[in-house]
Amino acid sequence: MDTKAFRRTLQKSESYHRKGFGHEEEVAGVMQSAYQSSLIQQIRENNYTLQRGNVTIRLAEAFGFCWGVERAVAMAYETRQHFPTERIWITNEIIHNPSVNQHLLDMKVEFIPVIDGEKDFSGIGIGDVVILPAFGASVQEMQLLNDKGCKIVDTTCPWVSKVWNTVEKHKKKSYTSIIHGKYKHEETVATSSFADKYLVVLNLAQAEYVCNYILNGGNREEFLAKFKHAHSEGFDPDKDLEYVGIANQTTMLKSETEQIGKLFEHTIMQKYGPDQLTEHFQSFNTICDATQERQDAMLGLVEEKLDLMIVIGGFNSSNTTHLQEMSIERGISSYHIDSPDRIISGDRIEHKPLGKDIEIAENWLPEGKIVVGITSGASTPDKAVEDAIEKIFELKGSAVAV
Ligand code: SF4
Repeated sequence: MDTKAFRRTLQKSESYHRKGFGHEEEVAGVMQSAYQSSLIQQIRENNYTLQRGNVTIRLAEAFGFCWGVERAVAMAYETRQHFPTERIWITNEIIHNPSVNQHLLDMKVEFIPVIDGEKDFSGIGIGDVVILPAFGASVQEMQLLNDKGCKIVDTTCPWVSKVWNTVEKHKKKSYTSIIHGKYKHEETVATSSFADKYLVVLNLAQAEYVCNYILNGGNREEFLAKFKHAHSEGFDPDKDLEYVGIANQTTMLKSETEQIGKLFEHTIMQKYGPDQLTEHFQSFNTICDATQERQDAMLGLVEEKLDLMIVIGGFNSSNTTHLQEMSIERGISSYHIDSPDRIISGDRIEHKPLGKDIEIAENWLPEGKIVVGITSGASTPDKAVEDAIEKIFELKGSAVAV
């Protein structure tokens, strides 16, 4: 399938929308009341610090809703305004945030049902409106919806589309796209659907394994078993690693994406010599600014003397999990919660430790004077951060005076 030509044709179609519908003013009120916070604004203006009683809050200097997510949410709300009577669907959670997704459900925006791990599009009919989320949709899904005669509202973030364009460039030169990401993550599923040959590597350790294979060869069966589900059909590590290009899921750890890019560059240079490097290797910077800013701000915050850290964001949000990783690496007691409601009391907090299931931690809030670091992922509204801060003040007996 010529994915580039398909996207070009789709974008010209009258049933396809990738800009708002001019209802910005109507949705501005909902966006403001549901997602923005005057307390957070106040903290931002006060050098990202708020002290009440024996609690000092230190906010990361960049956190929360990125413009790509804000744009996607506003577009979804505008879609309801623009199509007041049509059935409206979303192919996936628009972003990884439970309150935003609940809000959409309340507006009668339905999620495509998933049966036995597969999306069931059978209930969607001609004329239905289907919203594609901020992290995009696979080209096969877009084609299916187009064939069904749906109206498509595409909120895919331009940073994500930039990665798709990169993958198209790899394909044009018959390169294999090495995608740093999680093969099951919707964004990576979408990105790999535009590739011809691809291999998804999760982390530096996997990248090292692949690079070692490039240089020294290895056990082909073991390679294919290790990357089962993470490569294109018919992928052959003995043939398909001669020409490679780097791509990434936009929310991965920036430092790791860079390390992986450098590792492949050195490996290819070692294998084919410096003068052949550009012939065998392609890399473009596709790390999203928002992810980068949030990670840089977190790096600054975790250097401070903190008694604990609260990281707020959806449990399946990749960029939030990476923020949590950075905190854990510094040995800080860090709690990843997806909603302020997870803070049950001063003794109990329901949180998700890295790589584990949700559990309850006891005695999480220390006695006496404390400094609490707070950050949130790109899909978390300021309102959720405000509510978490208010809860901490309440539990420590420090009322908030705004
Ligand atoms: S994190 Fe970056 S790529 Fe993802 S929606 Fe936000 S701006 Fe876009």
